[in-house]
Amino acid sequence: MAVIKLDSVTKQYALGNTLVKALNDVSFAAHAGDFIALSGPSGSGKSTALNLIGCIDAPTSGQVEINGIITGSMSEVEITRLRHQKLGFIFQSFNLIPVLNVRENIEFPLLLDSSKHNPYANWAPAEQQDWINHLIEQVGLADRRINRPNELSGGQRQRVAIARALVTKPSIVLADEPTANLDSKTGAQIIALMHQMNQELGTTFVFSTHDPRVVEIADHVVKLQDGTIIDEYFQNGKSATG
Ligand code: ADP
Ligand code: ADP
Repeated sequence: MAVIKLDSVTKQYALGNTLVKALNDVSFAAHAGDFIALSGPSGSGKSTALNLIGCIDAPTSGQVEINGIITGSMSEVEITRLRHQKLGFIFQSFNLIPVLNVRENIEFPLLLDSSKHNPYANWAPAEQQDWINHLIEQVGLADRRINRPNELSGGQRQRVAIARALVTKPSIVLADEPTANLDSKTGAQIIALMHQMNQELGTTFVFSTHDPRVVEIADHVVKLQDGTIIDEYFQNGKSATG
């Protein structure tokens, strides 16, 4: 089943008195467990596509479906619930909380508005702690758990962000240029770690990049230019059916 589906999506922005089509009639689908790169130069529409999938923005025309539900048909409450329960986010600037240590940053989404929105609020506390410990080990930060973000390298900060994105066990993780602030080698390591988590947990990952080295790690590539898809292909032994 498609976990993400864009159907003839157009997104138009007003810029002064001209209209910019950030996306123009874009259609593609991602299946459960997909590891998909949105590639293309700056301004090609990658962030816009991720913002529409993440329900941060709504399409001008066309439809975005997440887990078979058209996001345009959902109420604010349903969208908030979807974002808290089903989606994880990774940013290019890491967006960690400076006063919290590694472990606390990773745990943070589990504390957010948990009574109303978090399906794991009923987890036994010991189970939650085991899961957080597992993630810390998987992202290679076992010896950094009490350090704060300013004591970590860029690569380590993004490892924290990956664990934080996964802590609520989302079905989809969205990452907008997650390697933009890292050197090329560290960037490739970060994408490889995301790929490892994708394979271990079956979480669908969608990330954007303009780095050809990073695109090579994806199983499914959607290439954008000027708001339209100019190429779409599968690689690393994957096919359209997974
Ligand atoms: P990318 O992520 O590939 O760099 P974006 O999705 O950010 O591309 O942008 C695609 C196009 O839409 C660009 O021409 C950009 O200037 C324009 N755009 C994006 N967001 C806005 C906005 N909020 N207002 C006006 N134009 C925007
Ligand atoms: P990686 O390649 O794994 O991201 P680096 O080689 O950049 O890590 O960093 C090695 C070590 O130096 C890290 O364990 C980190 O704790 C420390 N370090 C790197 N950058 C910084 C920084 N800006 N501030 C404090 N410590 C840092």
